[in-house]
This record gives sequence, structure tokens and C-alpha cells, in this order.
Amino acid sequence: MGHKMIEQEIVDGFAEAIREKHIYPVYQPQINHSTGRMVGAEALMRWLSPVYGMQSPADFVPVMEAHDLIFRADVHIFASVCRFQRKCLDTGVPTVPISVNMSRRDVFQHSYVEEIEKIRKQYEIPVKLLRIELTESSAIGGMELIVDTIEKLHACGYIVEMDDFGSGYSSLNILKHLDVDIIKLDLGFLEGDIGGRGGIILSSVVQMAKWLGTPLIAEGVETMEQADYMKSLGCDYIQGYLYSKPLPESEFLVKLGQTDHEATAPAMKLINAMNAGKFWDPDSMETLIFSNFVGAAALFSYQDGLVKILRVNEKYTQELGMRLTEKETIDFNPWQELNEENKRIYEDTIRKAIASKGEETCETWRDLHSKCCGDDRICIRSHIRVIGNAGGQYLIYAMVQNVTAEKKSYQEVYESDQKFRHASEQANVYAWEYTIATKEMRPCFRCMRDLGLPALVKNYPEPAIEVGIFPPDYADMYRDWHRRLAEGEPSLDAIIPLTVGRIPFHVRYTTEFDENGKPLKAYGSATLVVDGEKDKENA
Ligand code: C2E
Ligand code: CA
Ligand code: CA
Repeated sequence: MGHKMIEQEIVDGFAEAIREKHIYPVYQPQINHSTGRMVGAEALMRWLSPVYGMQSPADFVPVMEAHDLIFRADVHIFASVCRFQRKCLDTGVPTVPISVNMSRRDVFQHSYVEEIEKIRKQYEIPVKLLRIELTESSAIGGMELIVDTIEKLHACGYIVEMDDFGSGYSSLNILKHLDVDIIKLDLGFLEGDIGGRGGIILSSVVQMAKWLGTPLIAEGVETMEQADYMKSLGCDYIQGYLYSKPLPESEFLVKLGQTDHEATAPAMKLINAMNAGKFWDPDSMETLIFSNFVGAAALFSYQDGLVKILRVNEKYTQELGMRLTEKETIDFNPWQELNEENKRIYEDTIRKAIASKGEETCETWRDLHSKCCGDDRICIRSHIRVIGNAGGQYLIYAMVQNVTAEKKSYQEVYESDQKFRHASEQANVYAWEYTIATKEMRPCFRCMRDLGLPALVKNYPEPAIEVGIFPPDYADMYRDWHRRLAEGEPSLDAIIPLTVGRIPFHVRYTTEFDENGKPLKAYGSATLVVDGEKDKENA
């Protein structure tokens, strides 16, 4: 047995299937993976045809949608769920909220909300025992209708869930307009790739859901590894074969009696006027401000002494003086850079900021490691502010300033030539980045420390000539190099004696071009000349 019904058979058989209850819901539990308790269930439509056998909603739902039958089917499922909840209430079975699917076609049916309300009242079901799932594709018909529907559902007291979140590329843009209460994330869309790119998408969606203060349910969870991974990201609610397949009513009733229940809790309450949720919307004012106007800044979470960087802006990586990408910075364990004393200073400041609900400032020295400069120490001034918290986890916003150069005493500046000489014996390469259009130079942190350069040097190379890093007899040549870079010179190199000590360095530039061949940036490096090479200068 088991014939997949064709379109005509679905259309022709529909009325009878509803009447005879061949179309009915099955129930899939939603579990809190941390506690093992049931937090809800989803009603999924089944069609068991006496002639053709069990039909899959993936096949018949699209046909019902195409033939304007889905509205009746959805209302029928809603009524069946109400009948089920009534039975639980009457027989004293402790039940959970049950989510019912609303097709995107129902959004066009203006009477949907009135219709389900009529049924709910008829069965006298408390509204908190019913939830409505919408998919983001409902927005295809226009934002207004769906925003309107959510508003109406909220007005009646329904919890509204966003189904299949992350399946469409415009999710973030759509979500900002939709006031949903729970987000459902389908792991199936990631095709098992939770270690790679899928994992990055997952963790940012989970973080974003937290920022929005929206609980998240992971759907399609089949293995313990997946469930544990979701939990590690902070998503505890799981719906999937791991805990249970969708169950027929009788089996679900048994399950309800056997499992403890609990309510879904709000994920994160923002305590500050600044709406952190909007940081995740690429078009929001907050993101614009974060990226362009606030200077170097990072967002991180703090819980039980653990810090996790969630987001940094471009200026942050520049301020630290490293050529790191945002992702490299986020993967970094920020505690690693701090020794015990500096860690204590930083943590004290976080605690102060939590207590004061205002801004607190500290300065900490950090040990950094980068590809260009090896190990080094920089001093960072951080202005710390708590912008959200929930269940012991705090969201923190930190503006940072690299004050390494400023921290150096006069004496040290005076001695910098000595230090440069000394340092160059230790590790013999310095690196920097020169932006051709703006004449801005960004040094590596070794350059900052040994030469007292700030994180950003404007009107390069003039300041380097002024302070004598490039000696006067090489000044015009070095200026000319920058003219040639702007004209598209792909690379330059020469041996130049640097600083008043005239220590010979092999100075090189490599230019980066855009797709039209326009020069963008030049990457500079200065390598201490080893003895054999020195002869070249004389030659
Ligand atoms: P959906 O709303 O995203 O439902 C989740 C689907 O994932 C269900 O498929 C469920 O059985 C399946 N699932 C749950 N856990 C796992 C798992 O661990 N692994 C895998 N591979 N799958 C899992 P189902 O029941 O076949 O429903 C398919 C779709 O049909 C639903 O996707 C929904 O879009 C639609 N549908 C189901 N019932 C209704 C309904 O009453 N009304 C409307 N309009 N659509 C419905
Ligand atoms: Ca669903
Ligand atoms: Ca889904």
C-alpha cells in the first residue's frame, strides 16, 4: 500500500477527508534539552487515505494551497487541537501549549483570526495553550498583511512563532518588521554542516535571537551532538527525532502524562535604552553607528567569569594594530591576552559596570600574538557598559582605545631609538598598511611600541620623515615611492638605513588593486638586513 495521491485525487477527496477526519493532527514534543522537560508541541497535519494510505504534507499542502483548500484544512487542524486540549483539561492530563501551522495563504484570508477565535471560545481553551506558527515566506505577499495578522493574533493573546527561520536569505530584514515571540530554526536547512559555514550562521542566528530577547526552538534535531551543539550556543529548546517523532494523539497523551513540563522563558531582557537587538540588522541605525561612528568597539557576553566576544567593528581590529579579520578576533579567547593581574582589573570593571548600570573605564595591558609581529604587549583603555542581561549572562559594550604610545614616558620616547635597535635584534620585521586614497598608515603593534606611533598615522609618510624614522637624505625618495604607489606601481623595495642610528632595513611595498586595476592599499614591511645582504646597499 502507499500511493502518492495526484493533484486531482487530493482536490476531489478533500471534502470527504475533512468530514471523515482522515485529515488530522499528530503531535511532536518540544523539549528543554537542559532539563528534559516538555515546553510545548507542534501539531502537524496528516492525511491517512483509506484508499491510498498515508500522505505526506510536503506533497499535499502545496496542492491545497494552490486550490484554496488550505484555509479549511488549517482551521480543521486548529479545531482538532482545541478538541484535544479540551479533553486534557476535562480529564486532568497536564498539557502544554500546542503550536498550529498557519499557511502563508491564510494570511490573505482576512477571517482567519476571527475563525480560530470562534473555535477557541467554543471549546473554552485558554489562549496560552495555543500558538500560531507563521513562515517568513508569508511576507512575500507584502509586509502589511502579515504585520496586520500578527497584530491581530497578539491582540487576542496568541504567542506567534516564526517558522523555518533562516531558510530565506532576507530573514534579518524581514524579522525587524515582525513582532514574533518565538523563532524556530530548522537544522535541516544547514544540511548537517554545523561545523563549517552553517555553524557560523547558526551561532549568529542564536546570538541574534538572544539580542532580540526571543526564545529559539531548534527543529529537525536528530542527534545528541546537534542538541549539545545548539545548547552550547545558548539554544536549549529542541524539537526533533532525537526526542520524539510526531506522535498520534493517543501516544502523545501518554507522553504528556510521563514528562514534566515547564514554560518557555524569555531569552534576554535588555536593561538599557539602547536597543541591542538592532545591532544584528544590517540596515539598522545601531549597526550603522556601531560600524561607522563609535570608534573602535566590541560587543561581548560575560557569564560566570567567562568572556566571549560576539562582535567587533573594523576600527576595533585596526585600533589593536593587527591585521586580523573580525572572525579571527571573535575566535580569539580574550582572557588569553590578559595576565592574572590585568584580568582582575578588567573583571572588576565589568562588575562595577554591572552594579552601576553606567560606564566604567579601565586600562589593561595585553599580550598579543600576530602573524607579522610575533608576541607583543599593548595597553588598551576600555569604556565598558552593560546593555543587557538574562539568567546570569550579561551583554557588554566596550569602546576601546589603544593607548600604548601614550603610556610611554618621555624617557621612553627619548630612548625609542635605542629600543628600536634592540628590538630589531630580537625580531627583525615591522609591518604596516598604507591606504593610498587617504594616505593613512596603520602600523603593527611592534611599530607602535618601538617607534611610538599611534594606531593610525595620517598624511603618511610625512610624520615618519619628521620624527626621523626615515632619515632626511632618504625623505624625497620615500615620498616618491608613495607617488608611484598611487600611480599603480605593483611593488617597490630598497635597502634604507632607518632612524638616526641608520640601521639598514630591507623596506618593501606590495600593492593591492581592486577589480578595475585601481591601487587600493600597499602593504609595507621593513626587515632587518642580515650581514650578507648589506653589501647590496654598497653595490
Ligand atoms: P514544518 O512546519 O517545518 O514542520 C516540521 C517538519 O519537520 C515536520 O514534517 C516534522 O515531521 C519534520 N521533523 C521533525 N523533526 C525532524 C527531524 O528530526 N528530522 C527530520 N528530517 N524531520 C523532522 P512534516 O510533518 O512532514 O511537515 C512538513 C511541512 O508541512 C511542515 O513543515 C509544514 O510546512 C507543512 N505542514 C504540516 N502540517 C501543517 C498544517 O497543519 N498546516 C499547514 N499549513 N502546513 C502544515
Ligand atoms: Ca511548523
Ligand atoms: Ca519548521
